[in-house]
Amino acid sequence: MLHLTQTRLSTVLLTQDINTKRVLLQGNLKDGLYQFFDPSADCSNKATVQAFVTSRRPPNHIWYLRLGHPSISALQQIMKNHLKMSSTPVQFCSICPLGKHHALPFNISQSSSSHVLELIHTDVWGPAQVTSHDGFNYYIHFLDDCTRFTWLFPLKNKLDALPTFITFKNMVENQFSTKIKHIQSDWVGEFRSFKPFLDAHGIFFQHSCPHTHEQNGRAERKHKHIIETSLTLLAEANLPYKFWYDACATSVFLINRLPSRILSDISPYQKLFQQPPDYSILKVFGCACYPYKRPYNAHKYQFRSEKRLFLGYSSIHKGYKCLSKTGRMFISRHVLFDEDEFPYSTLFQNTSVSSFPPVVPHSIITINSGDQGSAPLPMSSVPSASFPTSEPSSLSLLTILLLTAATY
Ligand SMILES: [Zn+2]
Repeated sequence: MLHLTQTRLSTVLLTQDINTKRVLLQGNLKDGLYQFFDPSADCSNKATVQAFVTSRRPPNHIWYLRLGHPSISALQQIMKNHLKMSSTPVQFCSICPLGKHHALPFNISQSSSSHVLELIHTDVWGPAQVTSHDGFNYYIHFLDDCTRFTWLFPLKNKLDALPTFITFKNMVENQFSTKIKHIQSDWVGEFRSFKPFLDAHGIFFQHSCPHTHEQNGRAERKHKHIIETSLTLLAEANLPYKFWYDACATSVFLINRLPSRILSDISPYQKLFQQPPDYSILKVFGCACYPYKRPYNAHKYQFRSEKRLFLGYSSIHKGYKCLSKTGRMFISRHVLFDEDEFPYSTLFQNTSVSSFPPVVPHSIITINSGDQGSAPLPMSSVPSASFPTSEPSSLSLLTILLLTAATY
């Protein structure tokens, strides 16, 4: 039996047995929440939990889900090297074949740049078969050839590709104090419009021959990895296709944190920022979450949280994206998670998709800025929601996405 003991006003202990008094977790009060730390964990690797989390799954399974169904070797490396946990074998995953059971034929180029931003691969994906719940139809990604780090941006239409690239260019050149030297892309309409801008800024434009998009192989393979991972995330959480961008953004966030064989088994994040990512912040996509909303209550006698849908990691506030059943998105650092429950069908069963208001990113509390790996357009560009009149089931949406992925 577990016992929760408050030793001082600011400290609680969670002990396993009243006789042995073995301490499982110890927590300190901070910002109105008890933050628990695993006494057996190595504190130097930051493997502390942000908030009290329960799960009935074995540790290797819960980390497999938090990391977005990675390869077994990537899972084992992260558990051994960063979480200091032993990994037991993962059984056959019945979700992975839904998202990953096909392959695109590519010749893998082994060329690699030696400096950050020396070569950026880019491509646009879309149109999605269903507009995302926050009004987007495409995404554009930028892949740094040296570090394999990827940035993802949503687009309403392909004409937004160039202004989004200019935003990206200004951001990364300022952050990393170096200039983009080359751009590699397909020679299609949205990228032909890049040429005058690239010429004016001294950026060499490498593009594939017309109708031979296979020459843009590295960007194409990144599409495949993003789409397959996002399909798996949607299938695991039983979410409909209108959440495709949230799933893609979360996939990029996770892929940037997975060890890569081509980088000698470190992650793109570590290659770019010269330090390992903090894995303790990861939670299972699509699970139930309870953000702390007391600062926004008008009165003290109001519930301090409510069940919401966890939709990934904010790119601008380093908090968690929590969708309410009214369709309102909150971004909060202080969130409790039930990673065993995928609440979409119960939370939204009586909600008409067309009755959702526009998604309003709503920052509650921010924490240290840093890499995010996926960045939405500025707030002012977040459009009104646009929903299909009927919502296909997850499985039919998976089929649609698979077909779409195969054409890009
Ligand atoms: Zn899987």
